[in-house]
Amino acid sequence: MEITKIINPATGKKIAEYDRISVNEVKNKIKTSHQVFNTWKNTSFDERAKLMYKLADVLEENKEEYAQLATREMGKVIGQSRKEIEKCASICRYYADNTKDLLANQTVKTEAEKSYVTFQPIGVILAVMPWNFPFYQVIRFAVPALMAGNIGVLKHASNVQGCAFAIEDAFKKAGFPDGTFFNLNISSKHVKDIIEDKHIVAVTLTGSDPAGRSVASIAGQNLKKTVMELGGSDAYLILDDADMEKATDLATFGRLQNNGQTCIAAKRFVVLDAVYDEFLKLFTKKMKEAKMGLPTDDDTYYGPMSRKDLRDELHEQVKKTISQGGRLVLGGEIPDREGAFYPATILADLKPGMEGFDNELFGPVASVIRAKDDQEAIELANNSQFGLGSGVITENKERGEKIALQLEAGSSYVNKLVASDPRLPFGGVKNSGYGRELSGYGIREFVNTKTIWID
Ligand code: NAP
Repeated sequence: MEITKIINPATGKKIAEYDRISVNEVKNKIKTSHQVFNTWKNTSFDERAKLMYKLADVLEENKEEYAQLATREMGKVIGQSRKEIEKCASICRYYADNTKDLLANQTVKTEAEKSYVTFQPIGVILAVMPWNFPFYQVIRFAVPALMAGNIGVLKHASNVQGCAFAIEDAFKKAGFPDGTFFNLNISSKHVKDIIEDKHIVAVTLTGSDPAGRSVASIAGQNLKKTVMELGGSDAYLILDDADMEKATDLATFGRLQNNGQTCIAAKRFVVLDAVYDEFLKLFTKKMKEAKMGLPTDDDTYYGPMSRKDLRDELHEQVKKTISQGGRLVLGGEIPDREGAFYPATILADLKPGMEGFDNELFGPVASVIRAKDDQEAIELANNSQFGLGSGVITENKERGEKIALQLEAGSSYVNKLVASDPRLPFGGVKNSGYGRELSGYGIREFVNTKTIWID
């Protein structure tokens, strides 16, 4: 029997072990879920909403336990773990309040006596999810999926299996019928067997580009719909009229929140020549002052990365960028302590072709890039394989909006860090993926958009 070992990234110590489930057991569970789907799909929005409000309550009632678990398993600073659970509860309530409207039939005037579009559930959906927001990423998929009348099956990241089982348990506690949502502790090598199961109708993946390509191609071979939420290396443009205190506060929090491991984090800072030196000086000061420490301590600004191997990979990327001519301004050394810690690091004067410019740095490392004017800043921002969530910092909102409209990304925010919001669609372009989550756009990804015509 294969085992998943969970290591606390702050201490390097093993904290739990979970037995992997066999492919045969998984297939039996999926078969049961398919049967459950036949009743679940006929429940009303009101019945589902009642359970969803209850799920929000369960998440809030167990907030401290779930937050501590997430922090233990993947190193998130405890205050941010608590906020993550609160956000999960708000998504439950958003879809409980709004699904009836979001999925209401849409009448279309034609020469028919009656013609309209209706949104019907499609069946059992597999979600392959990452560790970085171990509760939120799952809830963001599962809540709209179940509200639409589908079934959710989770393959979570191996290092957060405690969170995966806690989410499954939260659905049970809320009273969802057995089989409407469950966790499969399988290794990623068995994802192919699951996608190929005839009862799985669609797959959503949030994770890295290689995992996305693999899952999307297997699903494509089987003609199953996918949504891909992949990586990002988005640009934040710091214009010459920006308030430098505000800009550097946003940059510091944007780069270090979730210990630097957020898909939509500010990663590349494209700074106009006129304020480049001033920005870099103040940003360096604030990044240096941010306290690295145990994620359970209240005064910690950022904790360890989620796994040692990921920390070591990030360090290799930093070294590569420096060898390509990038200037190390801060950090860049693995600290001499237990755990997967990496210090706040700044790489400046980056150019296309350098590792820190071209690829995602998924940890507390900022890339700073000089641009002579707005036009060059837009070109540098768009010179990326990714396009998830970018930003513009300026005192002139009109100028900011004009630039935001030209950035190749799923979201572009002016004077605010990109953050997902259940009322707005979330997703990427280019190698950041395709499809949308959240809002009406997200819930309609996994439904049969069906035409009815009565003559
Ligand atoms: P990852 O290594 O791709 O893992 C994500 C999930 O995919 C895990 O459950 C993993 O399982 C599974 N997996 C990995 N390789 C697979 C394969 N070949 N076939 C099937 N499943 C596979 O990514 P991560 O390191 O957990 O997360 C970091 C990445 O996710 C970053 O690039 C980040 O930007 C991106 N991300 C994107 C969003 C978004 O909304 N766009 C949100 C968060 C994160 P195992 O753990 O068992 O390997």
